[in-house]
Amino acid sequence: MRITLVGCGIGGLATAIALHAAGFEDVTVFEAAPRLSTQGFGLNILPNAVRELAELGLLDELRQQGVQTRELLMCSPQGDVVWREDRGLSAGYGWPQVSISRARLVGVLAAEVRRRLGDGAIVTGARLVGLDEARGVFVHEDGARRTVEADVLVGADGIHSAVRAAFYPSEGPPRTNGMTLYRGTAWSSGFLTGGSMTVLGDDRRRLVLYPIDHGTRGRCLINWVAAFPAPTADAGRSRPQEDVSGMREVLLREFGGWSPPDLDLVRVIGDTERIHTYPMIDRDPVPRWTFGRVTLLGDAAHAMYPAGSNGATQAIVDARVLAWHLASHSDVGEALGAYEAERLPQMAELQRINRSMGPERVLTLAHQRAPRGFERIGDVFSEEELAEISRSYAATGKFDQDWVNSRPSLSVRRRRQPAMRHNNGSAA
Ligand SMILES: Cc1cc2nc3c(=O)[nH]c(=O)nc-3n(C[C@H](O)[C@H](O)[C@H](O)COP(=O)(O)OP(=O)(O)OC[C@H]3O[C@@H](n4cnc5c(N)ncnc54)[C@H](O)[C@@H]3O)c2cc1C
Repeated sequence: MRITLVGCGIGGLATAIALHAAGFEDVTVFEAAPRLSTQGFGLNILPNAVRELAELGLLDELRQQGVQTRELLMCSPQGDVVWREDRGLSAGYGWPQVSISRARLVGVLAAEVRRRLGDGAIVTGARLVGLDEARGVFVHEDGARRTVEADVLVGADGIHSAVRAAFYPSEGPPRTNGMTLYRGTAWSSGFLTGGSMTVLGDDRRRLVLYPIDHGTRGRCLINWVAAFPAPTADAGRSRPQEDVSGMREVLLREFGGWSPPDLDLVRVIGDTERIHTYPMIDRDPVPRWTFGRVTLLGDAAHAMYPAGSNGATQAIVDARVLAWHLASHSDVGEALGAYEAERLPQMAELQRINRSMGPERVLTLAHQRAPRGFERIGDVFSEEELAEISRSYAATGKFDQDWVNSRPSLSVRRRRQPAMRHNNGSAA
């Protein structure tokens, strides 16, 4: 059976590996860009997805290339702690939470795809420009127009997905909430535990900081994201900011008085050499991801606001669930339908919750209840209320300890006989 993936992001690459592990060997990933992304901004990968990567044999590599996240602190702009919780192994998960540069994660996954499936399994400079689902024909361009036949096509082509647009032609551009994200990295002295993620905020701004690499003499590479209400000129894509000093001025105006625990924010911003801007965008949930032999995965299926470290995390889980269903069903349509039934309702709920910033809404609430700050957090929230916000978010995304530690493994090998069928009767 020939499986074609569109998009060499985290979702597409993880799917190629998961499919190979499940016994599929004719798998190719097409990527529009001429080479794989080398953008180094950070991602937190939650233990549910780290478990999937561990079962694919990638845990040691992840540990080497990233930093284990041990705790999460939610703070007021003054640095007063609203909520603190253990993360990953420290919180009793069987697998760590990992903070890692996206470029490194893409590098780890791409190397594994090539090792398992061969160099030809990743085709760059090949943009999908059209598809005919009924005939199993997909057209891509790499200078000339070329046609690829496939039994299954997975659109893992991100928030601006061409595969999704083929089925939702009038959907239009992603939705924005009017916030702009600034993103950068800077070397700094280590802070807090060395594996701490800090989120600060009031009712309209957010600042996230965590280390993604450790250097010598206790230094670390800090990944930071700052979000505040501001128009972004570009309707949907990341842009490197050329006027970095102008950008630093804007950031210092918005966040200069903020005090992340154990860090000198003015210095971190001053030491950042490249700043990218993005509009904060997501998509509405859609009623279907699967159309015959085509399905959607990752941001193409369920793009959400970046709150709660779920976008890439859930793309990796999608990859394993999809591979499991394709290996467990003898009919392609049934397999893709079962994947959608398992994943779509849960992801739609997460998209909805992320519109009110997921677990970060405790910061909005803290600001609303105590706009001038607080002496003791117990005067603003009960411990139970804070714990419930965190617990219910984790349960919705199925990354709470009980679920992650106890659910059956998704490791599976495809049964070779009988061959998979399409619901048009043909065998694959
Ligand atoms: C500021 C910020 C912070 C974030 N932090 C986190 C975090 O901590 N944890 C987390 O889990 N997630 C986080 N996310 C979300 C995460 O980055 C995304 O959800 C994730 O990268 C989506 O992966 P993907 O593979 O679905 O799509 P993408 O990474 O967008 O990959 C899609 C790929 O498809 C290619 N492509 C597009 N169109 C075509 C075409 N027509 N033909 C061929 N190829 C095509 C693109 O070039 C790209 O390589 C964050 C996002 C932002 C903006």
